[in-house]
Amino acid sequence: MANEMKIVQTIEELQGLIDRNKRGDRTVGFVPTMGYLHEGHLSLVKQAREQNDIVVMSIFVNPAQFGPGEDFEAYPRDAERDAGLAEAAGVDILFMPTPQEMYPEDGGIRILPGPQSTALCGVSRPGHFDGVLKVVLKLFNIVDPDRSYFGMKDAQQLAIIETFVRDFNLRTSIVRVPIVREQDGLAKSSRNVNLTGNERAEAPIIQKALKKGEKLFEQGVSAAEIEREVASYITQNSSGIMDYVSLLSYPELTKYDGTSGGAILACAVVFEKTRLIDNIIMSTKDGLYV
Ligand code: AMP
Repeated sequence: MANEMKIVQTIEELQGLIDRNKRGDRTVGFVPTMGYLHEGHLSLVKQAREQNDIVVMSIFVNPAQFGPGEDFEAYPRDAERDAGLAEAAGVDILFMPTPQEMYPEDGGIRILPGPQSTALCGVSRPGHFDGVLKVVLKLFNIVDPDRSYFGMKDAQQLAIIETFVRDFNLRTSIVRVPIVREQDGLAKSSRNVNLTGNERAEAPIIQKALKKGEKLFEQGVSAAEIEREVASYITQNSSGIMDYVSLLSYPELTKYDGTSGGAILACAVVFEKTRLIDNIIMSTKDGLYV
């Protein structure tokens, strides 16, 4: 596509642009985000750029995936900065719809995720993944991407979306992208900007704790014991409060019994105004995320 990035706010305009450009066998790679872009998002774009002719990014802070009392209002936003970063990373079309554009007359139809949503964030954020699946289905229908890029930072979301695509025969391939971290190990997140100075200094403890957990896992320590150790390491070394720490099979997100290909050690830590999630995949059949 042309070098200059197009910014569009309406579904009609976006679909017109995609229709005009997706001719012959040109492929579309799609990177859905909530904006306030960082290198995690940009690594998704990089991979999409390498594998497709056209790269579409959406930036939409989806109200449907925030529960009451969550940080929808406080979620960081900076459209202008995002547009500059997206263009520099090679996005061709940036879709920035308003909530009204996405949900003009919402008929209230809900998509209920299955058993994978009964663990981890699905427990502490009831309805969260319903809202994620609704927006993801809408975006897939609007963009019609050949490939869609999701980060392992949100490993549960990724696993649920993979199942969703399979269950509903959605015509896009889901591409998993590894977690991008700050130099001190903190997983990059738009929410990191809402940490206080002290909290930011403490936050790398999360990955340190997960790595300790990984060592214990390699030594054959039980899941329950690993979860206890990780939680106490984090609470003893930071002001964060544990929401959960869980060792499960991945991507099934059931109790880990050693027979499935991968295990995930995932946690959520709540600081005063900011809830952070992180995870580590500890063994896989294909060795992709070791
Ligand atoms: P968000 O804007 O936080 O909803 O994230 C949009 C996409 O970027 C999701 O697929 C995330 O998993 C992915 N993402 C966010 N942070 C990271 C990160 N640190 N590394 C890799 N992918 C990420």
